[in-house]
Amino acid sequence: MNSSSLTMTNDAPAVQVRELIYRYPDGRLALRGVDLTIVPGETIALVGPNGAGKSTLLLHLNGILPGKERSQPLHAHGNGQHARNGSEPAVWIDGLEVNAKNAPEVRRRVGLVFQDPDDQLFSTSVIEDVAFGPLNLGMSRAEAKRVALECLARVNLDDVADRAPHHLSFGERKRVCLAGVLACNPSVLVLDEPTANLDPRGRRRFIELIRGLTATKLIATHDLEMVLELCNRTVLLDSGRIVANGLTRNVLGDPNLLEAHGLEMPLSLKMGRLV
Ligand code: ADP
Repeated sequence: MNSSSLTMTNDAPAVQVRELIYRYPDGRLALRGVDLTIVPGETIALVGPNGAGKSTLLLHLNGILPGKERSQPLHAHGNGQHARNGSEPAVWIDGLEVNAKNAPEVRRRVGLVFQDPDDQLFSTSVIEDVAFGPLNLGMSRAEAKRVALECLARVNLDDVADRAPHHLSFGERKRVCLAGVLACNPSVLVLDEPTANLDPRGRRRFIELIRGLTATKLIATHDLEMVLELCNRTVLLDSGRIVANGLTRNVLGDPNLLEAHGLEMPLSLKMGRLV
């Protein structure tokens, strides 16, 4: 099947990335041909050292990074099978090609929670922030407020609705961001370092919240203990390429693989091997 003939179907992968290459405008090649398929309902970890390309990949999933312009071939391929001609799409969500035309629908389907909540929160009150997405989707003010309050309750923050986001703790701000994303009812949830900079209680809360969500989840993280808890499959990215993609226990249980890519086996797995 030609890639351009892929249409939205119920059995389409939740996320499909094919031969994705991305070069930043300054010339740095961040993704060198990434292939990834995620089926609906999976929870996948994206791990790798700093600079591996994790954030760059996540930003392609809802089209924050540009579509067509990224398609500069690394080098020409003789058989043309993998050659990129500048018009071939590289990312699909639920079978829907990520491009400028589909951007509004793609952004409705893909909820992205940034690592730093301050990159995401901009309103003067929590409720306004969480209601922003639903309002943008065309809900009435009353309906958007109802959905926002419901989502704040889901992240156990119903008591902060009228407060200013910048008066909340870091962990609370992270949960407000999650509420804002949930308010748009995404089918794919993309989380960039969800547990970074959280204290142990905040981390535990966030992990349990993520565990309870039914959306397809892609989690970029250095928190390999969380990966063991939440993710059935782990994708290891380094230097813009996927170097491993398999069951979490196999990927995180391979000390040589981890060491070769700047990672360490999580302590609980190490201890499990010792006993
Ligand atoms: P990770 O999230 O795995 O730490 P990134 O996706 O942030 O990796 O970065 C991948 C590569 O792209 C790195 O070499 C990084 O320096 C580069 N990079 C990231 N953002 C930019 C940018 N805005 N401009 C140029 N290069 C960038």
